Amino acid sequence: MGIAENARAIRGRVSEALRRSGDAARTVRLIAVSKTFPAERISEAMDAGLNAFGENRVQEITAKYEELRDRRTVLNEDGSAAGVEWHFIGHLQTNKVKKLLEVPTKYIHSVDRVELAVELDRQLQRRGESREILVEVNTSGEPSKSGVEPDEATRLLREIAGLETLKIKGLMTVGALTDEVAAVRGCFSKLRKLSELACQEAIHDVEMRELSMGMSGDFELAVEEGATMIRVGTAIFGDRTNKE
Ligand SMILES: *Cc1c(COP(=O)(O)O)cnc(C)c1O
Repeated sequence: MGIAENARAIRGRVSEALRRSGDAARTVRLIAVSKTFPAERISEAMDAGLNAFGENRVQEITAKYEELRDRRTVLNEDGSAAGVEWHFIGHLQTNKVKKLLEVPTKYIHSVDRVELAVELDRQLQRRGESREILVEVNTSGEPSKSGVEPDEATRLLREIAGLETLKIKGLMTVGALTDEVAAVRGCFSKLRKLSELACQEAIHDVEMRELSMGMSGDFELAVEEGATMIRVGTAIFGDRTNKE
């Protein structure tokens, strides 16, 4: 199937999941995770009406952004225009921050430690810019995963809330890598509860309106549990197995 058909099928499944969640009015942003795929495939996805792209490597997002920077909008199926958005979703090393900021990202999804936030703020001050960010939480407990421990999330939010150039908009997680539905759902509901908790704490300058969770294999569960953004790669672009 082509990208347009894949995207349409995913949007249909998202609508069904929203209906099941009893929150059909929520909008869910579909982020097409284009990592490992060349700019031409992203261009094709833009022709198919996709406007938000997720990348997990600094070198790759900056190169693709440069290659595609003339494409600022895409046309939706109803003929309206949507601005192109770049999302950084991967582990971010402090020494790559400066390079990443060459891209005017919509969200950096993966802020998971104080030192990283401080470096982002320092480089943004120099540029006279700000960025919207999410805090990544390791809800699965898998040691290979990035993200702050759930117990530490509120403290991290408090510690970085004062950094003027960072606009904290919500939380992000990667669900457990398992076929056990209950375990995966547990990760997503944990993220939602953490977000509600942080909301109650009413930390100054911290907004908790976005939940970035759900990938090709589990986005329906994530939408049922409250996702506002899903990050979908293979279900849109096909297999990456020979590319990584
Ligand atoms: C690769 C990746 C995705 C997309 O994964 P698929 O299974 O291809 O949909 C989502 N989120 C993150 C953080 C990723 O690295």
